[in-house]
Amino acid sequence: PSEEYELLRRRIFSNTKELWYYMNSELQSLNKEVVGDGAKHVGKIKKIVGEHYRSLLKDIANLAEVDGHSSWRIQENKDLSNLIQERLKHLQNPSDCSKARKLVCDLNKGCGYGCQLHHVVYCFIVAYATERTLILRSKGWRYSKGGWQDVFLPLSDTCLLPNGETTNRWPGHKNTQVITLPIIDSINPRPPFLPLALPEDLVPRLNVLHGDPVVWWIGQFLKYMLRPQPATSNKLDEYAKKVKFQKPIVGVHIRRTDKVGTEAAFHKLEEYMVHVELYYKHKELSDKIIKKRVYLATDEPKLFSEAKDKYPDYEIIGDVDISKTASISKRYSDQSLSGIITDIHFLSLSDYLVCTFSSQVCRVAYEIMNSLHPDASNLYTSLDDIYYYGGQKRRLHEAILPHFADGPQEMDLQVGDEIAVAGNHWNGFSKGINLRTKKSGLYPTFKVSPKIETARFASYPDVTL
Ligand code: GDP
Repeated sequence: PSEEYELLRRRIFSNTKELWYYMNSELQSLNKEVVGDGAKHVGKIKKIVGEHYRSLLKDIANLAEVDGHSSWRIQENKDLSNLIQERLKHLQNPSDCSKARKLVCDLNKGCGYGCQLHHVVYCFIVAYATERTLILRSKGWRYSKGGWQDVFLPLSDTCLLPNGETTNRWPGHKNTQVITLPIIDSINPRPPFLPLALPEDLVPRLNVLHGDPVVWWIGQFLKYMLRPQPATSNKLDEYAKKVKFQKPIVGVHIRRTDKVGTEAAFHKLEEYMVHVELYYKHKELSDKIIKKRVYLATDEPKLFSEAKDKYPDYEIIGDVDISKTASISKRYSDQSLSGIITDIHFLSLSDYLVCTFSSQVCRVAYEIMNSLHPDASNLYTSLDDIYYYGGQKRRLHEAILPHFADGPQEMDLQVGDEIAVAGNHWNGFSKGINLRTKKSGLYPTFKVSPKIETARFASYPDVTL
């Protein structure tokens, strides 16, 4: 398919959603303003608009099945993924480790498991961009004392030691053999290839394949890193049998305890379940749903009984014991490690995700999910943030329609304006800073399109498939 066609197809899909966000939110507030028959009328409109929306969305999604390009998408995803995986394997297995240029990264960032995985991904991206073998120092890891290899395959078969002739802190010198890397929050100078930048040699292909290429890109690093040890893989298989994990299933992640009030707002179970219901309503237009299932992952054990009581027509899958070990500050023991690995794994295997992207747990699950499909960039609802990568430079939108601010909260747009995006308000509007006018404010999301930033990374001409 041409790039124009794929971008247009995805744009129609996402703008159909934006139209619905707008209508739904306006009708909801109108409902509060009117009384009696007026309110009834609004309720009726809301219902029919909802039906229009689901029918349109289904047809647009079906386009990708009937336009004759679906086998191309599957093959292109395989080819691109194999290419990256081969490059990573090549990078990580130098012929002579004693001479190899290395990048050393410590697995001791003071944060949770999702955050630590993102720390390793960041190190791996720097290693890939600068063509240095990544050495992960993980002994004494607070999640598993024996280190990374206790759970996942080592990042290299031949080169795991951090020694070399010369060692320097980032940025070091091209000829320095070993460079040590600080965490993303304090890297200085900041290289141009950190997220959300994408390698310029891959962008022409990625932009055709995927609706949010950077998520696919991050997913490829996780795919390499998280190759499980046989024992880990057995545990996951046993667990799938134990909880009878099967599709269709919606993964719901509810982050509570220490996160609420400090880094994220509280959301009731019902707020998540509205979107689960919508998913199944949408699905029912094409398939008969025998059993509606939810994979529930949370650090709040009470939610299991709450979900079972309030949603008796659902099969709620997941393990209350896992959420208990997650919540009672045993976060850093081996036991809770297998809990969080299990939860992230099954969230990523779900057909759809409902969660808060303010949590790294759900962002990791979404990234892994995107390594399992040609394009899973639409298979989620986040109750708060849009997708981001911690420490990222920015996400850009480019105006493709003009806009005249309607009130002081909104901003003007001229075609071609670049906007650094702060978030989507899920009501038809996004918020950001217009880089031309320096004004911060709201703008209708359908008047912009995503803009990808590229950077020069090592391009691995010797790795061919
Ligand atoms: P964030 O704080 O939600 O952005 O994500 P982090 O991964 O950095 O830290 C949260 C930690 O809380 C995780 O690493 C887990 O230890 C625990 N946790 C949060 N949600 C869950 C969950 O759904 N299941 C399990 N097993 N643990 C969780």
